[in-house]
Amino acid sequence: MPHKTVIVGGGAAGLGSAGGVKAANPDADVVVYTEYEDVAYSPCGIPYVHGKEIPDFEKLFLATKEQYVQAGIDVHYETAVTGIDTTARTVRAEGEGVVSYDTLILATGFDYADPGVPGGDLGGLYYVKNIRRAMEWDKVLDSVQRAVVIEAGPLGVEMTTSLAHRGIETHLVDPNPWPLAEMADPDIMAPVEESWRELGVHAHFNTTLKGFLGQGHVSAVATSDGEIPCDLVVVATHKVPNARLAAAAGLKIGSTGGVVVDERMATSVPGVFAAGDCTEIPHGLTRVPLQGLTGSHAYAQGKVAGNNAGGGARTYQAVYIPWGTPAGKWIIGGASFGETTATALGIPYVLGQAQGISRARYYPGVKPVKVKLLAEPGSLKLIGAQIVGGEGIKERADFLAMAVKFGMTLHDLSTMENVYSPAIGALNEPIVVAATNGLDELRKAGKL
Ligand SMILES: Cc1cc2nc3c(=O)[nH]c(=O)nc-3n(C[C@H](O)[C@H](O)[C@H](O)COP(=O)(O)OP(=O)(O)OC[C@H]3O[C@@H](n4cnc5c(N)ncnc54)[C@H](O)[C@@H]3O)c2cc1C
Repeated sequence: MPHKTVIVGGGAAGLGSAGGVKAANPDADVVVYTEYEDVAYSPCGIPYVHGKEIPDFEKLFLATKEQYVQAGIDVHYETAVTGIDTTARTVRAEGEGVVSYDTLILATGFDYADPGVPGGDLGGLYYVKNIRRAMEWDKVLDSVQRAVVIEAGPLGVEMTTSLAHRGIETHLVDPNPWPLAEMADPDIMAPVEESWRELGVHAHFNTTLKGFLGQGHVSAVATSDGEIPCDLVVVATHKVPNARLAAAAGLKIGSTGGVVVDERMATSVPGVFAAGDCTEIPHGLTRVPLQGLTGSHAYAQGKVAGNNAGGGARTYQAVYIPWGTPAGKWIIGGASFGETTATALGIPYVLGQAQGISRARYYPGVKPVKVKLLAEPGSLKLIGAQIVGGEGIKERADFLAMAVKFGMTLHDLSTMENVYSPAIGALNEPIVVAATNGLDELRKAGKL
């Protein structure tokens, strides 16, 4: 059956969508619009090229333009979609005029929040996103002596570590008392802060951004704690959904500013789907809508949206958010939420904690792994977890997100089987020890 899907966005969600449409209907016409010069590159790798862990930007490209042509995906580069008529089922594309669709997928992604301070138009303010711009900024970094990173969110944490690795004197400015304060607990971030100090990072917490100073080009950042002279600023303010097109077209927008979607990633308007950072998705336990999840969420949502837009029937479920990232010399991660978020939301919890190790204690390269488990009082079902350590964090975060999703208890986790092999795993798995410690504490307190 002839079918045409138009996708607005060439990021993880847009390209996941394109593949999803083709999987459901190989004969469908799939047209992707992107404002950028490229698709199919990993923005996630950009901080690591800046930090010189990855030698060059070419490694970040995942597929060539020709491969998309061969896959029957018609990508229109550097072409902005400026409007949508959901009644006529058309979009307006710059330089092309009115283009019709049978189904439409919005994958317009995120913007960094406007810092909302004077000096935002100065040169030397770097918003890390587009790979072509990143390549240009990378050359600038060669002559940067001192940089300021604004906000210690996930990108700010990565960029702080990368710039410090590159030998740049790096200052991190954040209004919260510790980094990643919206998702990670202070005890999880304490080793990271310590390792930043070893790398020469100057962290300015409880510090508000007041403005960017300079004549044409930034020369200092004004903060509530004084001025920080600098050659460059990385503006890593929190992500906000880019839902302008959707809102203008009358699609329902949620409390976070993201496009509201159902389990099929269908929006409030028939024939229109949305995926990725322009949407909001409920948390699996709290049902609180979340925006600005990760690239892996965006890609998976795109697959579902594309499949349904192409005539298939797939669902995307509420999220339990495994997360993780290198930070300083450590790796941090978790699932669902930690103590800070639980407390802020008024969610009661009991704790199980352990300081374990990643390999046999005698095996070279063994690293510490701290695990903190949050469980629902009474049922002792896992509701969240946070981890910091030297290796194996990602795998534990993925597993613990599934453990939350399927309602595993501290009892389940304390008796779980685990791999013991000196080079890759200790006899006592830190998750098991944390769960066991939590149960012991409850027993001691007479609550078990
Ligand atoms: C520096 C960096 C590091 C990251 N690190 C990680 C990581 O370690 N792990 C992880 O999981 N994720 C990471 N991410 C991913 C990120 O946080 C997002 O989750 C992801 O980029 C969301 O994908 P998306 O497709 O929804 O949106 P985006 O990537 O924002 O893509 C939006 C697309 O929409 C297009 N667009 C927008 N408006 C229009 C319009 N009107 N007309 C035409 N095209 C339009 C843009 O050109 C772009 O192609 C990183 C991102 C960046 C930038």
